[in-house]
Amino acid sequence: MKKRRTSRAGVATKKAEGRSAIDLRGAHVLIVGLKRSGVAAAKLCAEKGARLTVSDSAERAAFSEETAALRDINVEYEFGGHRVQTFLQADLIVASPGVSLSIEPLGAARNKGIEVISELELASRFIRGRVVAITGSNGKTTTTALTGDVLRAAGFHTLVGGNIGTPLASLVPLSTEESVIVAEVSSFQLEAIPTFRPFVGVVLNVTPDHLDRYSSFEEYVSFKRALFKNQTGAEWAVLNRDDPITARFAPDLQARVWWFSQQALLEDGTVYSDHRIEVAQGGVRTPVIHRPEIPLLGAHNVENCLAAVSAAAILGADFRNVARAITEFPGVEHRLEFLTELKGVKYYNDSKATNVDATRKALEAFEGNVVLILGGKDKGSDYTLLSPLLKSRVKTVLLIGSAAGKIEGQLKGVVAMRRCETLQHAVEAAPSLTAPGDVVLLAPACASFDQFENYEHRGRVFKELVWGLKGKAAPG
Ligand code: ADP
Repeated sequence: MKKRRTSRAGVATKKAEGRSAIDLRGAHVLIVGLKRSGVAAAKLCAEKGARLTVSDSAERAAFSEETAALRDINVEYEFGGHRVQTFLQADLIVASPGVSLSIEPLGAARNKGIEVISELELASRFIRGRVVAITGSNGKTTTTALTGDVLRAAGFHTLVGGNIGTPLASLVPLSTEESVIVAEVSSFQLEAIPTFRPFVGVVLNVTPDHLDRYSSFEEYVSFKRALFKNQTGAEWAVLNRDDPITARFAPDLQARVWWFSQQALLEDGTVYSDHRIEVAQGGVRTPVIHRPEIPLLGAHNVENCLAAVSAAAILGADFRNVARAITEFPGVEHRLEFLTELKGVKYYNDSKATNVDATRKALEAFEGNVVLILGGKDKGSDYTLLSPLLKSRVKTVLLIGSAAGKIEGQLKGVVAMRRCETLQHAVEAAPSLTAPGDVVLLAPACASFDQFENYEHRGRVFKELVWGLKGKAAPG
């Protein structure tokens, strides 16, 4: 048996088949942040024999579902704040995805030599099979769901999880050595991955986002690059050749690089030529799918398909099955989701466009005549980046939420704008501003938390308001 390395009393680590497994028996594990992934992490640690404490800054009343889910496990809870003492007593700390690693008690624990890891890292130490990890500023969920469908269609035992919904920790019991785990990974989770080493790591693109959480764009970029930091020559990095940031990652990587590009006809990699996705190997190109067979709108979705095809090609998937899965892909709710056509006007819900780049991509998917609903909670964004597309494709911007004033100030004179304050007022204003052939698009370039619980809530409200218009527009 290989020699174990004990990082701290009670938590032993050993290398096993490319994973750094940990022995949690009797160890005192603190889980920080209880929502869905906190529950999954707690269950996994308990199953592995750990003693558990959970600490969350919100009050107990917010966690009735979570505590019920953990009712059969012996957990000590700390709600309504974090006590430094609780953190200093742990052998290992697992931070849930929403928890900032810069909070003071985590710093104190790290100073004392206590290991702090993300839920992604915890899961990766126990999960079996090969992990395809997908990150980027935009397109993660779409590409993760698509890659999952593609690999499933190609016959792999495929599990999909991470940020997309099912926490990775809860996939551990379902995984086998034959599994492929497609994981959507946010940069927050990449802040604490001392050993996580995906078989395929994909970075789709890196554009300014979450600048409210990071001290600089460079810091944000460095966390995206961290996806590759533990890889060796046995693993793969899938990189977007068209993105100026990811294009610069390659020279520093240990992993083998698989490029994809919509612009360059690469000798090796996944390319887009003559409206066709092709896999190139040594200059020989094999067609995979034609653009008209891809049901998703916009060049950004071709980018997502290129990434999914790249992962599939690395894993040796049959391209006919890959093409079939792409053709049948239903899309993901709140991502350029077509809702309905009313009096010749098409309504689209892209509530997930929570940053400027996503809104740009959404606008690029239409030729013009767009009435755009913009605004919400500002994330320190520069809305002037939207100017060229607003000029060429947008008739009127309807402003909502707390960012309205800032957006109006930055875009003065660029495009017609109207202050609507709420989504309801914006939707009600739309019919009088549109003509047949136009598009009404919710792609707000902002977070939703000023007026909604989250972007899903905003998207659902938008859909209900549009259905309401439909009721009025089509009596009987
Ligand atoms: P994420 O999980 O990274 O937020 P999603 O697939 O949920 O990505 O899409 C988020 C938003 O970004 C949506 O508004 C979508 O239309 C847009 N989008 C999707 N793919 C891309 C891409 N490759 N580049 C830029 N924007 C994209």
